[in-house]
Amino acid sequence: MSHHTPEKPADVVARLRATFRTGRTKPVQWRTGQLRRMRAMLTERGADLATALHTDLGKSSNEAYRTEIDFTIREIDHTLEHLEGWLRPEPAPVPAHLGADATAWTRYDPLGVVLVIAPWNYPAQLLLAPVVGALASGNAVVAKPSELAPATSAALADLLPAYLDPDAVAVVEGGVPETTALLAERFDHVFYTGNGTVGRIVMRAAAEHLTPVTLELGGKSPVFVDDDTDLDVVADRLARGKFINAGQTCVAPDYVLATPETAAALEAALVRAVNALYGADPAASPEYGRIINERHFDRLSALIDSGRVVTGGAGDRTGKYIAPTVLADVDPKSPVMQEEIFGPILPIVTVSGLDEAIDFINDRDKPLALYVFSESGETRDRIATETSSGGLGYGLPLAHLTVSDLPFGGVGESGMGNYHGRYSIETFSHRKAVLDKPLG
Ligand code: NAD
Repeated sequence: MSHHTPEKPADVVARLRATFRTGRTKPVQWRTGQLRRMRAMLTERGADLATALHTDLGKSSNEAYRTEIDFTIREIDHTLEHLEGWLRPEPAPVPAHLGADATAWTRYDPLGVVLVIAPWNYPAQLLLAPVVGALASGNAVVAKPSELAPATSAALADLLPAYLDPDAVAVVEGGVPETTALLAERFDHVFYTGNGTVGRIVMRAAAEHLTPVTLELGGKSPVFVDDDTDLDVVADRLARGKFINAGQTCVAPDYVLATPETAAALEAALVRAVNALYGADPAASPEYGRIINERHFDRLSALIDSGRVVTGGAGDRTGKYIAPTVLADVDPKSPVMQEEIFGPILPIVTVSGLDEAIDFINDRDKPLALYVFSESGETRDRIATETSSGGLGYGLPLAHLTVSDLPFGGVGESGMGNYHGRYSIETFSHRKAVLDKPLG
């Protein structure tokens, strides 16, 4: 199905750079035209993408539209609505020694040819949303989908060049060898979403060309559940955020911190919530996804021993199915607490209270997201000021990344840089300083 282009990475980049040099990608009309074409691709061929996402991840059509296709359409619409305003030059006050006739401003310049490398978990959204920002900023783009979601990769390789300017947008499919070859080329920006080990490889390769990078990484995103909350509401929102895409979400709640009394009550509430979402047999629910491959199935299966199984625990390797699983009495030293889970297993770790929860979080890598369920303003403020994370969600996991006016990205081990909405323009442009002193 895929028309894998035999063109060499160096030739792809040279071809796109030649296009960029003509200036074709710079006018705002070209940019909005490309975004409208991508929008048409998503509305006309969304069903093909949804089928591919189902093949790769068992995603229901509902979930594929909600989290990938319609998500990207919203990002496009938001960008189309605001782009001209975002691009407007911004005046800067001029100091007196330059004279009253001098003026200064900043303007956004496109960077040139950018590389977007995407992961497998939201393989369409996480390729397309950065491409939206790169095109809106007037760049040419090489897009590298994840080889671990092969059906989606092939669909994107077919669709993107068919809908977009093929001399300004190229899709290069492949895994490590192809990506390594691409990274040897000089790009003007590299935007990588994935894990920290490869993030380091990307940053090292980019350093050779002094190319700036955005690294959208992951990590263990904690949840703190205070003693004062309605646990049925908490459990429902936690279960939705955790088990969507079978837990394979970079900002999924990774583990829960709560006092022993709250943890005990939360266990029961989570059992009810999982049952309400996926029924008594989640394997039969069309809404429940599958694990990407056997390697991850085996990795996740080995983590289930880390605690007492409250619900779930079952799996089927052939079907790459792991039940929505909640673990209680989890020792912080157990395997499930050593790495990002990235699957449908939710451990509950007990702490004595807020102070210990804050220490627990600060003893570990800075997470991509942190979630707090609390009615107490003081608790909410203390977590905001005393911890560091890419994003912070009060009362609702995942949703902050659907707000196009919020920057999405990590800090420390969870990444550097951010995007979405106008933050994508910051990422994929150079903000050029301009001074004008009249000659007269
Ligand atoms: P992955 O295995 O699909 O890898 C991501 C990309 O890196 C792929 O395109 C792959 O081809 C490329 N790659 C792999 N090895 C490489 C190498 N040696 N050299 C060059 N390129 C290489 O996806 P993954 O890393 O398993 O993704 C899961 C991770 O991504 C999790 O840690 C998750 O939290 C994180 N993530 C972050 C975000 C975010 O927006 N911050 C979103 C989704 C996933």
